[in-house]
Amino acid sequence: MLIEVQGMTTKDTDAILATPRTRITKHVICPFCGCLCDDIEVAVTMTGPLPRVPEGTIVEALNACRIGHTKFLKVRDEYRIYKPELRSGSDKSEVKHVSIEEAVQAAAKILANAKRPVIYGLASTSNEANVKALELAEVSGAIVDNTSSVCHGPGIEAVQRVGIGTATLGKIKNYSDLIIYWGCNPIAAHPRHTRRYSQFIEGLFRQVEDRKIYHIDVRPTRFSDQVTNFIQVEPNKDYELLQAVRSLLRGHELQASEVAGVPMRQVRELTADLKNAQFTTIFFGLGLTQSHGKDHNISVAIDLTADLNHYTKAVIMPLRGHFNVTGSNHVSTWTYGYPFSVSLEHGAPYYMPGETSAVDVLVRGEADAFFAIAADPAASFPASAVKQMLNIPVIVLDPKRCVTTEIADVVLPSAYVGIEADGVQTAYRMDGIPLQLSKIVDAPAGIKSDDQILDMLVREVCKLKGIKRYPY
Ligand code: SF4
Repeated sequence: MLIEVQGMTTKDTDAILATPRTRITKHVICPFCGCLCDDIEVAVTMTGPLPRVPEGTIVEALNACRIGHTKFLKVRDEYRIYKPELRSGSDKSEVKHVSIEEAVQAAAKILANAKRPVIYGLASTSNEANVKALELAEVSGAIVDNTSSVCHGPGIEAVQRVGIGTATLGKIKNYSDLIIYWGCNPIAAHPRHTRRYSQFIEGLFRQVEDRKIYHIDVRPTRFSDQVTNFIQVEPNKDYELLQAVRSLLRGHELQASEVAGVPMRQVRELTADLKNAQFTTIFFGLGLTQSHGKDHNISVAIDLTADLNHYTKAVIMPLRGHFNVTGSNHVSTWTYGYPFSVSLEHGAPYYMPGETSAVDVLVRGEADAFFAIAADPAASFPASAVKQMLNIPVIVLDPKRCVTTEIADVVLPSAYVGIEADGVQTAYRMDGIPLQLSKIVDAPAGIKSDDQILDMLVREVCKLKGIKRYPY
């Protein structure tokens, strides 16, 4: 296991783990990706057995993949923000450190004075923080959007149109004998997915050798080398390939030598495997949701699983990225009936992706304030949207420095959800299973959790706008 605490060597960590003064917390959930692995064992120093390792330092996260491991061990690295900031000057380089109360007042003033504020992010924080963010959007009259509007949003729109037949990851592990990863690379984005739920795990009714794994993507990756079959599809032609498989499945013959760059021999082989499998699972990624066809790709992939259920059992599931992006959709849906891109400007929820999505509102120059919560939109949005963010007040709520904090007017540092945050903090796994996150170590002095800071903001905006807050 790689140990990466600043200034420590593996020898140091071996010494720490050998001492009885190291506290081990078991069954910790990793708050990084949508797998929410719940078998992490985190070691924390109790009294600083080595002089340069302070008490309460996370020194090991057993079972975590390299990405999750880094998240646990780097909570106090050089990018951590320890004090709220008010930033000014043309390049926001003049930084004034203030108390959390002052920073919240400044942020609330921006939101209360804005005509069309946008609240965005929410995928890397808890359901409890999501609830508070929606309340803040209500009292501010804001548009509230989560990161799914730039990743799996089209898939959700497809589900709204045609429904979905899906399953839990546990069911897939126990039953699935044919697993397809379409337009995604699990070993890069969800490194333990294949080991916990699909390719390399024994299920109740499946041995590892019983499973056939397909990878369908526009180019081969390292993952393609470890699967039973790799199919290379031409970019933006997934829809054609899916429809061809559906036609063959229904007994139609296709007068073509290839479909979407895939030889007919391979298309027929895939169709036969789908028909003969006892339980097929299709996991899909952004290669399907964000290529040409978008939501139509997912509609037709769902239709394929529906067709397959005439012969056998088949389910489909998105490979969700951020650890609680599924939760941000759930909370928004159970509150307003809509999963993302919800406008609360007119006193009632209004949903029109493309019109009420954060990127589109920015690109059209309509937003007059922007609040990023547990997200780094300046690093991921199109340049035209980021350019607009430079012209309006920006607030950031995040434990760490990122590109967006550098263009922000107000920076509100928070505790890491699932590692430091107080109180009940929950998240939804990619298959829609809610799980309670842990608190392993205390947050730095004076640093509150996302939901606590958002609650302060709700109160302050209510005060500024003269809104009487309901009593809870
Ligand atoms: S696969 Fe995801 S949830 Fe599991 S340890 Fe790695 S980053 Fe964490």
